[in-house]
Amino acid sequence: MDIATPTDYRTIAAGLVFPSEAFIDGHFVAARSGARFANVNPATAAILGEVAACDSEDVDAAVAAARRAFDTGAWSRAAPEARKDVLLRLAALLREHAEELAVMESLDSGKTITDCLNEVGHEVPNFFQWYGELIDKSFGKVAPTDESALALIVHEPVGVAGLVLPWNFPLLMAAWKLAPALAAGCSVVVKPAEQTPLTVLRLAELAAQAGLPDGVLNVVPGFGETAGQAIGRHQDIDVVSFTGSTEVGALFLKYASESNLKPVGLEMGGKSPFIVLDDAPIDDALVSNAVSAALWNGGQNCSANMRQFVPRARKDEFLDKVLARVASLKVGDPLDPATEMGAMVSADHQRRVLGFIDAGIGEGARVVAGGSGAIEGLDGYFVRPTVFDDVTHGMTIATEEIFGPVLGVIPFSKPEEALRMASDSVYGLHATVFTRDIDRALHFARRLPCGTVSINRFSEGDIKTPFGGYKRSGSLARDNGTEAIAQYQQTKTIWIGGPEG
Ligand code: NAD
Repeated sequence: MDIATPTDYRTIAAGLVFPSEAFIDGHFVAARSGARFANVNPATAAILGEVAACDSEDVDAAVAAARRAFDTGAWSRAAPEARKDVLLRLAALLREHAEELAVMESLDSGKTITDCLNEVGHEVPNFFQWYGELIDKSFGKVAPTDESALALIVHEPVGVAGLVLPWNFPLLMAAWKLAPALAAGCSVVVKPAEQTPLTVLRLAELAAQAGLPDGVLNVVPGFGETAGQAIGRHQDIDVVSFTGSTEVGALFLKYASESNLKPVGLEMGGKSPFIVLDDAPIDDALVSNAVSAALWNGGQNCSANMRQFVPRARKDEFLDKVLARVASLKVGDPLDPATEMGAMVSADHQRRVLGFIDAGIGEGARVVAGGSGAIEGLDGYFVRPTVFDDVTHGMTIATEEIFGPVLGVIPFSKPEEALRMASDSVYGLHATVFTRDIDRALHFARRLPCGTVSINRFSEGDIKTPFGGYKRSGSLARDNGTEAIAQYQQTKTIWIGGPEG
C-alpha cells in the first residue's frame, strides 16, 4: 500500500534508529578519540542524535582496513560476475528499505520526502544495479601489432579510493561515486558531509548484508578540516573523488601535491544560465522548467540555473508567469508529500543565503518575490523562494554561487549578448536553452562552455550520461555514464612478444 500522508511518514520517523558510529572493517565503531557531534534536523532545529566525529586516526584505521581488503583480492580480483551479484543484492536491499532511507534522509537534510523517495528509493538503487550490470560487459582492447606480438590493454582497479561528499543529495552523491568505484574493484573510504551523515552509514550496513567483504566499504563521518583533510593527505589513498565547493576542491589539489600525488576527481560549484530565446513560447512547460531549474531542492543544487536570461521585450510576460508559479510553491514540512520546498541544510547555510539576498538588494536588484525574513509557522532554517528583477551581469548575485532558492532575471537584446553573458563565468557546469530553432539550439549547445547543455527542458541527464564541469566547476573526471568507471581504474598494457623475425 502506498504511504501518502505526513502522519505515516512521521510514524516511520518515530521508529527509526539512527546510525551513530563510524563504519570501519565491516563494523560500527566509535571514533578513537571518543568525540561526537550533534546531528540536527534543519526543518525543526531539533537534535536527531550524536554521531562519531572521526579524525586522522580513524581515517588511518579505515584506510588500513581498505588496503587489507584490497590486497586479499576478495573484491578487487573477484570475477566481475561476483561483484555484479553483490551490487544487485545491494540494489534490492536499498529498494526494500526505500521508505526508511528516504525518511532518514529527509530528516537529516531538510529535503522533501517526495524528492527523497525518488532519489533514495529509485535513483540510488538504479546506480548500483547499472554499474553492477556494466562491469561484466566491459572489455579491454587488443592493439594492432604484427604477428610477433600480442598487445593487450587491460583495466585494473586503482586501489583505495577516498570519496568526499556534499550534503545536498547525500545518498545520491554517494551512489554516483560508490557504485562505479565498487564495480571497478576498488576499496573505499567515504566521508559524508558533516550535515548529513546518516544514510551513507545505513547504506554501508546494507552493503555488508548484501555480501560486500569487510573493509571494502568504510564510512568516516566527521568534519572537513579533520576527516576530510586526512583523506586528502593520506599517503595510502590512491585516488580521491570529491564533490563539493570549488574552494574545498582546490584544497584537495593542494593536499595531493603535498602528499602522494594521488589523482583527484573534482565535481564542484556552478552558476548556470537558463536562456530563453525570442522564438520560444513562454508557456506552462517553460515556466515550470524555469522555476524548478532555479529553485528545485531549495536551490541547493550544483547545476541550479539561477541566472535566467530573457529577451528584454518579453521580460514582463516571463516574470509575471514565473511569479504566479513561485507564489503557488508549497514550502514547509519536508515530511508532507505536498511540500515542494523544504529547509536549508543548516543555520549557517540559511545565513549565507540570506546574506546573498541582502547583497542583491544592496547592489540595486529588486526583490519581486520572497526576500529575507522568516516564514510564519516554520521554526527550522527556511528561506522564502526569492525572485530578483533588475539583475545585471556582474552583480554579486549573478556571479557567485548562492546555493539557495533565488532566481534572478537578466534581460538581453540579442541572442549573442545572452551567449556572451551566459559564458562569462568562472564556472561551467550546466546550461539550459529554450528555442524552437534547431540551428540556434545547436549553436548554443556547442558554444556554451559547460559540461551539460539541456535544450527545451531542465535536465542533468541520467545515469547513462557523464556529468561534470568545465572551468572551475570540475576536473576532467566525470561522474555517471561509462565514463565514471575511468576515475577508479588504471590502464595497463601487456605486451606479449613472440619469436622475432
Ligand atoms: P563543501 O565544499 O563545503 O564540503 C564538501 C565536503 O568537503 C564535505 O564532506 C566537507 O566536510 C568537506 N570539506 C570541507 N572543508 C574541507 C577541508 N578543509 N578539507 C577537506 N575536506 C573538507 O561543499 P558543500 O557545502 O557540502 O556542498 C555544496 C557544494 O557542492 C556546492 O558548491 C555545490 O555546487 C557542490 N556540488 C557539486 C556537484 C557536482 O556534481 N558538480 C554536486 C553537488 C554539489
